[in-house]
Amino acid sequence: MTRHEPAGCQERRRALFHQRAALRHEIRDQAACALADHRIGRRPTPFRPASRLAKLQVSEILRIGARAQELKAMGHPVIVLGAGEPDFDTPDTIKDAAIRALQAGDTKYTALDGTPQLKAAIVRKMARDHNLTFTADEVTVGAGAKQILYNAMMATLEPGDEVIIPTPCWTTYSAIVEICGGVPVHVPCTDDQGFRLTPAQLHAAISPRTRWLMLNSPSNPTGAAYDADDIAALAKVLAAHPDVWIMSDDIYEHIVHDGFRFVTPLQVAPWLRDRCLIVNGVSKAYAMTGWRIGYGVGPRPLIRAMAVVQSQSTSNPCSIAQAAAVEALDGPQDMLAIRRDSFTQRRDLVVDRLNAIPGLSCRRPEGAFYAYASCAGIIGMTAPDGQVMQDDRAFCSWLLETTHVAMVPGAAFGVSPYFRISYATSMAELQDAMVRIAAACATLSRD
Ligand code: PMP
Repeated sequence: MTRHEPAGCQERRRALFHQRAALRHEIRDQAACALADHRIGRRPTPFRPASRLAKLQVSEILRIGARAQELKAMGHPVIVLGAGEPDFDTPDTIKDAAIRALQAGDTKYTALDGTPQLKAAIVRKMARDHNLTFTADEVTVGAGAKQILYNAMMATLEPGDEVIIPTPCWTTYSAIVEICGGVPVHVPCTDDQGFRLTPAQLHAAISPRTRWLMLNSPSNPTGAAYDADDIAALAKVLAAHPDVWIMSDDIYEHIVHDGFRFVTPLQVAPWLRDRCLIVNGVSKAYAMTGWRIGYGVGPRPLIRAMAVVQSQSTSNPCSIAQAAAVEALDGPQDMLAIRRDSFTQRRDLVVDRLNAIPGLSCRRPEGAFYAYASCAGIIGMTAPDGQVMQDDRAFCSWLLETTHVAMVPGAAFGVSPYFRISYATSMAELQDAMVRIAAACATLSRD
C-alpha cells in the first residue's frame, strides 16, 4: 500500500484482501472434504429433500411473477395481474409510527408472540369491528397471517388428520396442511353456487378424522364472500360435530363491494368460540404486505400451543413492524373506505370487459381484489401460431408470452378452466390489459 493513496482506495484494497482470504479458505475446505471423501471411497450424495415436501413446489404465482419479470427485463411492456398485493403504498401515519419506534430504540427482541401494545390494539379492533370481547392471552401475533396458519396447523394436526378446504382456494392452505402431516380435503365449489361451500357439502365432507374447516371470506382467488345467513347455515352443520374446529381467514374483510356486510363466524355463532381461530393481518387492508404482521385470535390453549411453535421457529415478529401495526389498527381508518371504493371501480371495469369477450365469463365478486373468470369457451381453440388452448395453463401462458399480461391459471387454485385476475393495479393498466386480452382472444379460431 502506498502512503499517498486516498482513503476510499485503501478500504477497497482491504475489502479485496478479505474477499480473497475467504475464497482461499473456502477452496481449502472444499479440497479437504473432497480428499476425505476420496480416502473413504464415498461419493457425494445428491441433495434429497424430506419426503414431506414430495408434493410441494414453489407457488405457481411466484413462478409466473418471475417469468413476467424476465419479459420485463427483455423490454416488453408487461402488465402483472398475478400478484396478491395492493398497489397502494403503506399510509404515511403508519410509516411515521415505524420511524418513531426505530428512533426510540424498539430494535430488540419483543415478547414472543406479540408486544402487549399490539395485542391490546387487536383486542380493541375485535371489539370495535366485530363487537367481540377478547383478552390479550387469546391473541397471538406472527410474521404474517401465513405464519399464524402454519403455527395453528403445526400445533394441532396429527398425521392423517383431515382439513376441509372449500376450493378454489389459496393454495397455501393445502401446502401448510401437507407440511404438517395432515390431509387436505378439497371440496369443489362451483361458479353457480357462487364459489361458496354449501351446508350439504360440508356435512358430506366431515369424517371422524376431520380436524378443521378452513373458511376464507372474502376469498382468494374467487372474491366470493359468505354473508351472515351463509355462515349461520354452515355453523348449524358444525353444531353436530363438536370436534371440528373452524379457521376463519378474515384477511380481506375490509375489501368488500356494493355494501356487502362482512361478518366473522363468531358474530353469527358465538357458541363456536371454544373451537374457532380467527386469522387476520395488516397486509391487505393497510397495504403492508412487506411488513409481515398477521395475528390469530382464539381459545387460550390453542394460542399457547401456537406460541410454542413460534418460539422454536422464528420467535417474535419484527419489533418495528409491530409498532407500525399498532398504528394501523388504532390510527385513522378513513383510507379503508377510499381504497375499497377504488377496488370496486376496478372490479367493475375488469368484470364488464371480461364478460364482453366471447369465450370468457366472469362472476361479479363480493370482495377481495380478485376476479375468477371462466375460459371454458376458449378451450380447444387455436392461436395463429398454431398453439392450442388445451387448458387454462396453456391459455395463461400464451397470453403472457404474446400479450405480456400475467395472470394465474385456475389450475393453481384447484378449479379449471379458469384464471385469476388480481385487479390491485391502476385503472390505466387494467384498461390496457383488457384491450390486449380482447385483441388476443379475437385471433383464436376453432378448426
Ligand atoms: N390468507 C389469504 C387468503 C391470502 O390471500 C394471503 C396472502 N396472499 C394471506 C392469508 C397471507 O397474508 P400475510 O401477508 O399476512 O401472510
